[in-house]
Amino acid sequence: MTQYVYRFGGGLSDGGQGDKNLLGGKGANLDGMASIGLPVPPGFTITTAMCTRYYEDGQVFPESLKAEVANGIAHIEGVTGKKFGVAADPLLVSVRSGARASMPGMMDTVLNLGLNDETVVGLAAISGDDRFAWDSYRRFIQMYSDVVLELDHGAFEEALEIAKEDKGFTLDTEMSATDWQALVAKYKAIVADQWGKPFPQDVHEQLWGAVGAVFGSWQSERAKVYRRLNDIPASWGTAVNVQAMVFGNMGDTSATGVAFTRDPSKGDRAYYGEFLINAQGEDVVAGIRTPQYLTKAAREAAGAKPLSMEEAMPEVYGQLAKVFDLLETHYRDMQDIEFTVERGHLWMLQTRAGKRTAKAALKIAVDMANEGLITREEAVARVDPAALDQLLHPTLDPNAPRDVIAKGLPASPGAASGIAVFDSDTAEHRAELGDAVILVRTETSPEDIHGMHAAKGILTARGGMTSHAAVVARGMGRPCVSGVGSLAIDAKAKSFRVAGREVREGDIITIDGSTGEVMVGSVATVEPELAGDFGVLMEWADKVRRLKVRANAETPLDCKVARGFGAEGIGLCRTEHMFFDAARITAVRQMILAEDEKGRRTALDKLLPEQRGDFAQIFEIMAGLPVTIRLLDPPLHEFLPHAEEEFNEVAEAAGVGVDALKRRAAELHEFNPMLGHRGCRLGVTYPEIYEMQARAIFEAAVEVAEKSGAAPIPEVMVPLVATRRELELMKDVIDRTAKAVFAEKGRTIDYLVGTMIELPRAALKAGEIAEVGEFFSFGTNDLTQTTLGVSRDDAGRFLTTYVDKGIYARDPFVSLDVEGVGELIEIAAERGRKTRPNVKLGICGEHGGDPASIAFCETIGLDYVSASPYRVPIARLAAAQAALKKA
Ligand code: ADP
Ligand code: MG
Ligand code: MG
Repeated sequence: MTQYVYRFGGGLSDGGQGDKNLLGGKGANLDGMASIGLPVPPGFTITTAMCTRYYEDGQVFPESLKAEVANGIAHIEGVTGKKFGVAADPLLVSVRSGARASMPGMMDTVLNLGLNDETVVGLAAISGDDRFAWDSYRRFIQMYSDVVLELDHGAFEEALEIAKEDKGFTLDTEMSATDWQALVAKYKAIVADQWGKPFPQDVHEQLWGAVGAVFGSWQSERAKVYRRLNDIPASWGTAVNVQAMVFGNMGDTSATGVAFTRDPSKGDRAYYGEFLINAQGEDVVAGIRTPQYLTKAAREAAGAKPLSMEEAMPEVYGQLAKVFDLLETHYRDMQDIEFTVERGHLWMLQTRAGKRTAKAALKIAVDMANEGLITREEAVARVDPAALDQLLHPTLDPNAPRDVIAKGLPASPGAASGIAVFDSDTAEHRAELGDAVILVRTETSPEDIHGMHAAKGILTARGGMTSHAAVVARGMGRPCVSGVGSLAIDAKAKSFRVAGREVREGDIITIDGSTGEVMVGSVATVEPELAGDFGVLMEWADKVRRLKVRANAETPLDCKVARGFGAEGIGLCRTEHMFFDAARITAVRQMILAEDEKGRRTALDKLLPEQRGDFAQIFEIMAGLPVTIRLLDPPLHEFLPHAEEEFNEVAEAAGVGVDALKRRAAELHEFNPMLGHRGCRLGVTYPEIYEMQARAIFEAAVEVAEKSGAAPIPEVMVPLVATRRELELMKDVIDRTAKAVFAEKGRTIDYLVGTMIELPRAALKAGEIAEVGEFFSFGTNDLTQTTLGVSRDDAGRFLTTYVDKGIYARDPFVSLDVEGVGELIEIAAERGRKTRPNVKLGICGEHGGDPASIAFCETIGLDYVSASPYRVPIARLAAAQAALKKA
């Protein structure tokens, strides 16, 4: 027969210690604490398996449970010497729910169960404290009526208020025994009135009522919603804990409190908590009275008068401090604790791993490893990589006042204040003058890159988490709030309206890219701290990591940031952003609009020294490390002139007529540019473009090698390849150019030629492509688009619905679709390696910074991941955790 009741306390344990799945978190740890000799009131746990069976059987309890529960009550009676329902020395219990993971929506705890009109008199006599007995009874009636009978609690609160008012009291503690007794009579009248029956006097009826209510709450609407949001299966069920009461409301030597073994917000090794004298249960958190500090230091720091527990109850405090240390040693983690003091005697009522901020998580992990409590590997495994994001950017000072006017998507973390500016040229100009600038756009496009760079933060009215603004902002480490639908932007008038307020160019605003909030005025920020614990944990992570971590970066500044964050190379250096530079764009346009090769070459000659300069700077910063450079990729229309004056400029530079230019521009128009004339298709049709870029790369590499002695390792990457032949043609251009440059300069350097795998065909034909390509870089942004047939620029309209309906578990542009896109990557890796065993494999999409996607890369044995500079530390930690999990 299955055992459904597990007893704990009084030197007895039915085992199951630590089995949270069976006993729930609370039950497992009560048994755990009792088993290491801590003072825990005796009790028993009805298992989660019972909850599951209860629902399977149509919400009835099996006959056998009665005997098991009776046996559990007998255990508590045996340890305490009290008797359940017997007036002479009545046993009171609490009934507490406890799922595997602590879960809002579950039934609230019922305290003092076992009191009735007779046992309350017995309790008063045996405790010698009438007031305490009647205080406990009124608490019980109110809680039971609220959480088990589900009566309107307002009536009870009102009755208490009136009772206090009549007496002229403000505090509950002023109420006397007779006051409470009178209130009990009122409470019982309310129950009879609302419930239609008198308050249950049979203690067994009380107990089964409460047990049934806990199991019933598992299917409450609140609990269901929480489970859905947190991926908790309904099959888990909750446990019920029945435990002897101990009383914090037995006068001034009694108290109740909550504590953390370390500071949960900063992580300092200092006990942290609050307590209330002569109080019970959740009085501390309920805010009925102001709680007192646990330690003297905390009281003094807060400038509070009421004595701390350390001062008011030094002996119990000493015991408590010992318990804290024992618990940390036993559970090897920071603990969040609930305790009660009954007439000077300490009782432990709960312990669990405490929630903490990212900062505290780091400090606690590093400290615990240094203290020898956990290993360095465990420290690495404990910090959530995604939470590091909070630490890598400036954040708003939590104490500063703020005036929030709108809310959008938290598209790129960090906070920034500055003047609102409505176009990129002005942003650049004002930034040069020394202003902090927030660029406000309906949406951004590649032409805004310079403005985004110059800005401290970016705010857009349209676009989702993977819109141009969001992706580029994350890449640059700029805070960004996107998709603020309520912003009415008037770019011409240089102003926006929202919520009846108007913001004009030059007005100061603040955005918080971690919450999506938009504020008027400036709010103080605090800078991130990257040394100390952060640096130590990263060092430990690097020791266990197998995957290399590179960065997606293309400006010297980004490369410096990436190296500072520990990048081991550049995994994706896009070249098109360099073309938008104001000094070059005319030459770029001249090249695109040229009628023939000769015209293109004239323009390319102007661009060559500029590109060479770009690469030389990057090679110098990344000396000795691999740098993957992607040859020109975007659809040409992105570079086309729009305004009349732009056409004029190009016409003048190229020496052709404006009309001819416009005709050519119209010819270049495409219906679906993302699937159009882009990627290696540009190189196939206009090889001279890739030739110029290859020349710039090799000339720069030779130049840097000569100057610094540390040769860079260029990896020339051809984008959007679908067939072996495409890559062969392009490799030929690149190799020929390399040979020519090396011959001219009299110096050779090592380089690789490879391709991005971003089309399903390329993944499938990877075996053939690897005959030519020496490396593959999975461009998972485009590979996701092309595999799913979903444009990421338009996905915002329906993708959330898809995630809500469980079609995709997560946004596939944020976390790799491991099942679909992942399978293509696996196929490509396998086929590629079969042809060329040492083919270098990495990913360079947004997914390179996503911990779940990184774990996938580890399982299939890729060589590296490449992430935006600010996500490099996250990737390092995630890669370490993936390696630990695999080991
Ligand atoms: P929650 O899951 O909401 O924290 P608990 O079951 O921990 O609910 O109960 C809340 C509070 O009730 C506890 O922190 C404790 O103060 C009090 N409590 C629960 N059981 C007992 C008990 N046996 N004796 C005294 N107080 C108790
Ligand atoms: Mg609670
Ligand atoms: Mg609790």
